[in-house]
Amino acid sequence: MKIICIGRNYVEHIHELNNEVPEEPVIFQKPDTALLRENCPFFIPEFSNDVHHEVELVVRIKKMGKSIPVEFAHTYYDEISLGIDFTARDLQSKLKAKGLPWEKAKGFDHSAVIGQFLPKTDFNLSDLNFRLEKNGQIVQQGNTQQMINSIDQIISHVSEYFTLKVGDYIYTGTPAGVGAVASEDHLEGYLEQTKMFDFQVK
Ligand code: MG
Repeated sequence: MKIICIGRNYVEHIHELNNEVPEEPVIFQKPDTALLRENCPFFIPEFSNDVHHEVELVVRIKKMGKSIPVEFAHTYYDEISLGIDFTARDLQSKLKAKGLPWEKAKGFDHSAVIGQFLPKTDFNLSDLNFRLEKNGQIVQQGNTQQMINSIDQIISHVSEYFTLKVGDYIYTGTPAGVGAVASEDHLEGYLEQTKMFDFQVK
């Protein structure tokens, strides 16, 4: 399976990092070794002093597809979750400044937290609230209406370049409010009122 991530999909987050609104979706991938499941603790890696949380809506692909038209994209996923695209921001800034790929800052071990999956029919995908709480305080909240590219537009665009296969995950970008995590932080993610993950930072 592969983990495809979309960058710069919420305007306010683009502004907080002083990036430009992209003309088309920004795509990168994480290896399967990045996954962190089942509320396991996240250990801050030695190579970074500035690991940021990026809470993101995640979809799980249910059938193989290539060059999927937007109007059929909804038939390629039944389940959604919430995850965190952990990012070593200090390392990413260095790599970006040199025009180098982001992989080390984005794809390191356990950088892709994934919560439980629920049927998409449990939610209104066109008006879906999600949030991240750190130590009981809301630090990020988003709504799918704020997405520059919708889930279906993302699936269509990604599948022009990468064949989607059963079990692939797509992280659909983070809203504003990203910030550093510290040892002993407690992170909880919610889709509407449903808790999707709950784990400790070590
Ligand atoms: Mg992200």
